[in-house]
Amino acid sequence: MSSGEVRRVAVVGAGTMGNGIAHVCSQHGLDVTLMDVSADRLADALAVMGRNMDRQIRKGSLQAADKQAALGRIRTSIQIDSVADAQIVIEAAPEDRALKLEMFARLDAIAPPDSILASNTSSISITAIAGSTRRPHKVIGMHFMNPVPVMELVEVVRGLATDDATRDAVIALARRLGKTPVEVKDSPGFVSNRILAPLINEAVYCLMEGVAQPEAIDTVMRLGMNHPIGPLALADLVGLDTCLAIMEVLHRDLGDDKYRPCPLLRQYVAAGWLGRKTGRGFYRYED
Ligand code: NAD
Repeated sequence: MSSGEVRRVAVVGAGTMGNGIAHVCSQHGLDVTLMDVSADRLADALAVMGRNMDRQIRKGSLQAADKQAALGRIRTSIQIDSVADAQIVIEAAPEDRALKLEMFARLDAIAPPDSILASNTSSISITAIAGSTRRPHKVIGMHFMNPVPVMELVEVVRGLATDDATRDAVIALARRLGKTPVEVKDSPGFVSNRILAPLINEAVYCLMEGVAQPEAIDTVMRLGMNHPIGPLALADLVGLDTCLAIMEVLHRDLGDDKYRPCPLLRQYVAAGWLGRKTGRGFYRYED
């Protein structure tokens, strides 16, 4: 299947990433089925997409009529069976290996045999995910960045068995969505999170050891290293549960203690302080 033929996409998981992926797909003319186990998350996702499209209208990058058309191309469902007519499924469920393996086995049973099964995983082995299906050649990593409507990169991760046609179709689809795809090997954390997650983890160690307050840590990295956002503010945007899950994958799969998750990061996750999505992380968020 070439991406020129892709018209129907299913996005599984309507959280931080799933709503952004559904947003860009619908904005670029694709019919989107957005599936989540939580009806509340689906309602929130539609509201967030509407607000983000309003922001694009204010900036002049979207016409008001196109907003309604884009939202009209999205249908939501709490049933996994709703992916049955998708030409590509993009999974954006939580960063949990067991959950993803089980989900891909189910997606494999439901989605048409020639459709592509892509994961937005931040760190989990695409080869392992593919191994839970009977179509490992059609399983691939399509790793969007947060916030999806704004960020240009898509990391394309080829598992051991992923074939050229699948890789080519996903690269073409990423370009069609206005993104720049970069192909990387299937290795824990790929390139993006092999580098970013330890940076965030080290910033949390600085906080835990009292080297500086959150604002100071972030200001050093913004003004000193020219990062557009400090690592702790970025961790809040990503979600601290996701940051912890990525560090656990790096630690276990690379087997090096330099990747040990910071105990303070574990505590924040245990407390439910997950960042923006819960209103509190290293900073507090009013709305
Ligand atoms: P999130 O917690 O914001 O959203 C996950 C969503 O999945 C929730 O709405 C939840 O209800 C839903 N869900 C849970 N179990 C499900 C199931 N069985 N079937 C369908 N939906 C289910 O998480 P997120 O930040 O959007 O992350 C999703 C994926 O994207 C993860 O693999 C993560 O590593 C990856 N990712 C995250 C970021 C980021 O900055 N947050 C960036 C790139 C990639």
